[in-house]
Amino acid sequence: MLQLNLPSPLQPIADERLGSMRLFLKRDDLIHPELPGNKWRKLKYNLDVARGHDTLLTFGGAYSNHLRAVAAAGRIFGLATVGVVRGEPVSNPVLDFAVSRGMRLSFVDRAAYRNKDALLPGLRAEFGDFYLLPEGGSNEHAVRGCAELVPEIEVPFDLICVPCGTGGTLAGVASGLHAGHALGFAVLKGGGFLREVVAGLTSSQRWSLDTDFHHGGYARRTPELDAFIADFQARHGLLLDWVYVAKMLHGIYRRAGEWQGRTVIAVVTG
Ligand SMILES: *Cc1c(COP(=O)(O)O)cnc(C)c1O
Repeated sequence: MLQLNLPSPLQPIADERLGSMRLFLKRDDLIHPELPGNKWRKLKYNLDVARGHDTLLTFGGAYSNHLRAVAAAGRIFGLATVGVVRGEPVSNPVLDFAVSRGMRLSFVDRAAYRNKDALLPGLRAEFGDFYLLPEGGSNEHAVRGCAELVPEIEVPFDLICVPCGTGGTLAGVASGLHAGHALGFAVLKGGGFLREVVAGLTSSQRWSLDTDFHHGGYARRTPELDAFIADFQARHGLLLDWVYVAKMLHGIYRRAGEWQGRTVIAVVTG
């Protein structure tokens, strides 16, 4: 049986550095140990739509939380899974976990990975019929799932923040808003292209994107970010995911001066 911790808890953060800004963490990381955060929300309706297929196929980098979650979902829901991984064949904890949950991996070089549609006929020949989940799982069904996060929040708020990788979570949260504003923090360098992606996934206008806190790019870190993570853990007992969540929260702390008197929700996506 799938036991999900929903609605996910809302945790107030008392921190004098924030002045009169009120901060709550929406703890989506606690939804499920193998299907955390936005990955569960993005998969939920995709799994409904995938009924009738016996295989899920998706794309990701070698450290993709999405591949990990798809592999776990496949095991839980009795579906075969295929992960098409960017780059040379490697082994790491993420891919080892995916394989342990039954995922078959297919490595493709970066040039071929960029042109995913051209790979599909070959993948169908190799793996048979499958339900295709896009990279990062961001599609209309993912947006619907992420929108459900918003009505779970029982305090009035001005701003809801999410980290942004492929933009599906931001689009979903924006779609769920009837008041307030969603702000995405791009975790990759040159993330401005995400504005077009998000606009293609939601007709909501209640969102914007901050591209100032990528710390050098996807899965890059800076001493400043590491210091923020250590300090946050010391004060609040929570070790932040450094690829996504820490970059968002660091950005929120840096913007807090502009947000005095407001109530801000930070979604801990994983
Ligand atoms: C995948 C992931 C994201 C990115 O979500 P997108 O919908 O791709 O923008 C954010 N946070 C965590 C923890 C993730 O694993």
